[in-house]
Amino acid sequence: MSRARRHPHRYHKTNTSFGQVWSCALPDCNHYMPRHMVGMLPGKQAQCNECDNIYILTYEKMKSDEPICDECETNREMRLRALNERKEAKQNSSDEVNIDEILKSIR
Ligand SMILES: [Zn+2]
Ligand SMILES: [Zn+2]
Repeated sequence: MSRARRHPHRYHKTNTSFGQVWSCALPDCNHYMPRHMVGMLPGKQAQCNECDNIYILTYEKMKSDEPICDECETNREMRLRALNERKEAKQNSSDEVNIDEILKSIR
């Protein structure tokens, strides 16, 4: 009757009574990687914590508690960059806005 569904686990870091472990976030899965076996994770398939894509785990990705696929990393980077650019644009424009100048030009 044991019908363990095979899937790339949705690895994320969780706190348990025996420390932090990488476990599967899917509701019907109670898989986790024993701490002495964490070295086996890089190179394994995993499900993205953001978009459900399948990606390959790397040491670099495992620096995050909730690793995401390359596509989501790129998207996140682009969103951050756009946000920063907007912030910079706002700062620049507020520097340039001079209320006296505007009032003068209206008169
Ligand atoms: Zn799983
Ligand atoms: Zn993704």
